[in-house]
Amino acid sequence: MDYRDTAEETEYREELTRWLAANVPARRAEPLDDEEAAQERIAWHRKLYEGGYIGQSWPVEWGGKGLGPTMDAILNEENGNAEAPGLPPMVGYIVRSLMMFGNDEQRERFIRSSLSGEIQWCQGFSEPGAGSDLAALTTKAVRDGDEWVINGHKMWTSFGQWADWCMVLARTDPEAPPHKGISAFLVDMKAPGITLSEIVVASGSPETSEVFYDDVRVPAANLIGQEGDGWKIAMTTVAYERGPSDIGMISALRKQLAHLEAQAKASGLADDPAVRRKLALAHVREEQVRLVALEQLSSRATGKPVGEEGSIAKMLQTEASQELAHLAMGLNGAAVITGEAADVTADYFQTRPMSVYGGSSQIQRNIISSRMLGMPRS
Ligand SMILES: Cc1cc2nc3c(=O)[nH]c(=O)nc-3n(C[C@H](O)[C@H](O)[C@H](O)COP(=O)(O)OP(=O)(O)OC[C@H]3O[C@@H](n4cnc5c(N)ncnc54)[C@H](O)[C@@H]3O)c2cc1C
Repeated sequence: MDYRDTAEETEYREELTRWLAANVPARRAEPLDDEEAAQERIAWHRKLYEGGYIGQSWPVEWGGKGLGPTMDAILNEENGNAEAPGLPPMVGYIVRSLMMFGNDEQRERFIRSSLSGEIQWCQGFSEPGAGSDLAALTTKAVRDGDEWVINGHKMWTSFGQWADWCMVLARTDPEAPPHKGISAFLVDMKAPGITLSEIVVASGSPETSEVFYDDVRVPAANLIGQEGDGWKIAMTTVAYERGPSDIGMISALRKQLAHLEAQAKASGLADDPAVRRKLALAHVREEQVRLVALEQLSSRATGKPVGEEGSIAKMLQTEASQELAHLAMGLNGAAVITGEAADVTADYFQTRPMSVYGGSSQIQRNIISSRMLGMPRS
């Protein structure tokens, strides 16, 4: 397999790199607060779209460029290299799944405006009693004329405070087997009956939220696919979420590792065999993730649909990020406790939930062992 850029990809990468050099917002000396960070991300999404860089692999009729998935990966990679604000992840999975399962009217209404960043999304799947066992969800949707009435409690709805719309899973047939009685809805986050409460995670950031749905009325036209399609839609969404789309994270890891190496050299720690071994291992990890992501991307470029292999990419990315953040904590010593290296500490805490969201690492191992390796479930 040849992972090098084609001539077309090289040209695109060069043009993009020049554009990024001219457009990436300057870093402010003092850290952004949560509201500013979210707004910066949304503004960057819109700027990239105006520049013609969002949606390279999306169909032309919905505002994309109709090119292969590698072009999106190049954007992610160069965005990471340029240390630009993060890209909106929901376009890569929630909107992708809406394009696959939504009807033409829904696509017309949402795809272009989501690619452009005019609409932001969140994902309302998990509940207090339904995370790994998502089919246990109890949020209900009951049909009432031309509307569905939703009641329930969702947990961990990330970006909910800033999202305009949410893809919500709700039980529409309580008599059906758990996986079959679920449907997926497009819910306006400003609809009456929705109450959101921020969850501040260990890094100190309210990056996620719990959302209460009390008699929330949703037009029947906002059902995605058919009644009972919710499980299929949810599994497709998470397969894209776990896949190799976020190759930008790898370039960010590479930058972080280079920074740590420079720091270790400057402080004399690079001569310590234990530190050298950890840095070498971090290089191996980063290369492992990169190759797996490239292999999965090239398989996607041939038109193969996403599947369980995303679990491997997700696990490796999680382990590489967490180990690197752990190494950074070690290299910074007491400064991570005194607050002198607050960014390193915040980064460490930000990597911790990676082994939980998008499906925990234990669940990814279950998927790899039972569905990919054919091992018995018990
Ligand atoms: C920061 C953050 C952001 C999130 N964002 C979103 C979001 O935007 N939208 C959304 O819908 N959800 C979101 N989630 C929820 C996330 O998907 C769930 O937390 C995750 O699926 C685990 O579910 P749970 O928290 O209910 O834990 P549980 O399912 O109760 O799991 C508890 C522990 O038991 C283990 N476990 C459970 N079942 C098994 C099993 N069968 N075999 C082996 N081990 C098992 C788990 O691995 C875990 O270690 C987010 C979570 C976090 C922490």
